[in-house]
Amino acid sequence: MYCRNCGKEIKGDAVFCQYCGCKAALTDNNSGAEITWRVFARISKIVGIVSIPISIYVLGLTAVPGLIFGIIALKTKNEDVKGEARAGIVLNIIASALGSLVIMYIIIVIVSVAIDART
Ligand SMILES: [Zn+2]
Repeated sequence: MYCRNCGKEIKGDAVFCQYCGCKAALTDNNSGAEITWRVFARISKIVGIVSIPISIYVLGLTAVPGLIFGIIALKTKNEDVKGEARAGIVLNIIASALGSLVIMYIIIVIVSVAIDART
């Protein structure tokens, strides 16, 4: 389970948090959700890291699910997980921005070819 006060992971049988001393007994009712947010934040960050180098080839499309996972994971009360979710969101925004630049470049090339073909 996780500490209600500082958000750090603590032993399931602990009565007090070993990090901040907060009474920990009341926190385990949403630990299932916390594990989900932790997984979502991790997925978001990994997808972001992978998406940046490949965004030029896949037009940033892989960043879309990464962004969604990151935004969902922001529901966490755990500050470490929240930080990871924010990192995932930033990485995926960079990847989608790179993908958008490539899309714009392709549109400019197509338009200029079309204009050349007419004149
Ligand atoms: Zn604590």
